Amino acid sequence: MSKGEVLIVAEQVDGKVANVTLELLAEAKKLADKLNGTLSCFVLGHGPNLEETLLKVEAAGAQVIYLADSAELAEYKTLPYRRVVIDEVSTWAEPPHTLLMGSTTTGRDLAPRIAAFFETGLTADTIELDIGPYEHKGGTDQSKIGYFGECLYANRPSFGESLKARILGPWKNPQMATIRPGVFPLPKIDLEALKAKPAEERAKIKKVKVDIQKTDYRVEITKTLRELSSKIDITAADVIIAGGFGMGSAEGFKLLQELADCFENSVVGASRKAVDMSWIAYPYQVGQTGKTVRPKLYIACGISGALQHRVGMQKSEAIIAINKDPDAPIFSFADHGIVGDLYQIVPELIKQIKAGKSLNTKNKEAVAH
Ligand SMILES: Cc1cc2nc3c(=O)[nH]c(=O)nc-3n(C[C@H](O)[C@H](O)[C@H](O)COP(=O)(O)OP(=O)(O)OC[C@H]3O[C@@H](n4cnc5c(N)ncnc54)[C@H](O)[C@@H]3O)c2cc1C
Repeated sequence: MSKGEVLIVAEQVDGKVANVTLELLAEAKKLADKLNGTLSCFVLGHGPNLEETLLKVEAAGAQVIYLADSAELAEYKTLPYRRVVIDEVSTWAEPPHTLLMGSTTTGRDLAPRIAAFFETGLTADTIELDIGPYEHKGGTDQSKIGYFGECLYANRPSFGESLKARILGPWKNPQMATIRPGVFPLPKIDLEALKAKPAEERAKIKKVKVDIQKTDYRVEITKTLRELSSKIDITAADVIIAGGFGMGSAEGFKLLQELADCFENSVVGASRKAVDMSWIAYPYQVGQTGKTVRPKLYIACGISGALQHRVGMQKSEAIIAINKDPDAPIFSFADHGIVGDLYQIVPELIKQIKAGKSLNTKNKEAVAH
């Protein structure tokens, strides 16, 4: 443990490291640098993919890896995972400055238990992180007054995304937060470059004692059923064709699927209003209470551009909006806008893209001959 340590608790799904862990590591490196400290990662698990997880978290920036490798940890279980993390961190002379996890089902389950044990604060669903000073001048609790040079700034939307709140808790370390998946870019993982590094530049792996108690098995996992939500990952798509209330029906989403099929690595997405209408399932929802996405291209069809939708897609590389209302808010942040009825525009787009593709193929064939 070093002073100013930033610790990420890794998450694995089916033995594979979750993207949010890698996103978080790359972002947290900036915090560790500001603190002049170390970026470390706690990996709990077991099985054939563990080796790859270790390499990936290192490639994403981890300088120290705390490894708890045990068959009992092969699958996430709240109490055993909690036990191993708190047992290890409690042995350190000082707790880490910052402890972060993904704002996923696992992170939301585990982080509060760790925070409760260390009697420290926890900001949930954070979208930005930084380190900075804070002076607490007043308040009823005199013991809290003071100047704190290195606070974790955990920024998160509040009041229905109309405000961004900076949440601080500098009185006790670890300062904790969970971070929404997809808000930070996924780092490029180059395992070949990593393996080519000299040993002294590689991450240190510290094996952690696993001493799970009988009481930690109060909950038994009898079966794991992966639902639709874990099979569909719209965050990994390069192109998202999203539909909103303006689609008018579930049928309309078939048209969007047809447009999506014109692109490689593409998927259909939706606004919450379309999901609420049961036109499409929840795992496709983009926004504050859905997924945060950053595809290369986002085509929003019949979506007004409410703040709660915007926060989930505004980091897309290019946004095209199709809406019949020229004053729809989405046109204020889209890169390109098409005003008109989507049921005229989308079929025409599909026709043009398909025609362009066949023209391209013909040209290629002509060149080949
Ligand atoms: C706490 C909270 C969390 C929320 N979380 C989310 C979230 O995660 N994701 C989300 O999306 N929303 C979320 N919302 C809801 C959000 O506030 C909006 O209500 C929602 O995004 C609106 O969806 P929409 O744009 O599809 O519908 P509308 O706002 O009704 O817009 C429909 C648009 O379609 C256009 N249109 C209609 N017919 C056509 C046509 N034929 N051709 C072209 N355009 C047409 C209209 O001009 C209109 O602009 C949340 C709200 C709250 C309070």
